Amino acid sequence: MTNAAWQLFDVPTQPKLTDRQEHALTVIQQAGAAGVHTDELGAAVHAWQGRHGSDDICEFCASAGQELGRALRAKGLAQQRRRKAVGGDTVTVWTVAGRLPRERDHEGVIPF
Ligand SMILES: [Zn+2]
Repeated sequence: MTNAAWQLFDVPTQPKLTDRQEHALTVIQQAGAAGVHTDELGAAVHAWQGRHGSDDICEFCASAGQELGRALRAKGLAQQRRRKAVGGDTVTVWTVAGRLPRERDHEGVIPF
């Protein structure tokens, strides 16, 4: 028995992520096509780390979200997109890179 056959089934190497980056990616994936705001991304990771509750925002959430979003973007896993918020403002959110997952819950709401 050799390793050669087994290696045929090797998955392409995944970018190496820290635990925080992996959690941030999960948050972005779960946000789907709607995306997640930088503050929310940082808050979700802070809550996961036990720094504060999941509904709280601290003064470091935005920088944490920015840092994690940029790190994931550099690895080709996340990208920023513009979304129209309620009230007409444009917000920038993080989503998974490339093709977005199908929007199931709000079908037809996002016009692009
Ligand atoms: Zn925070």
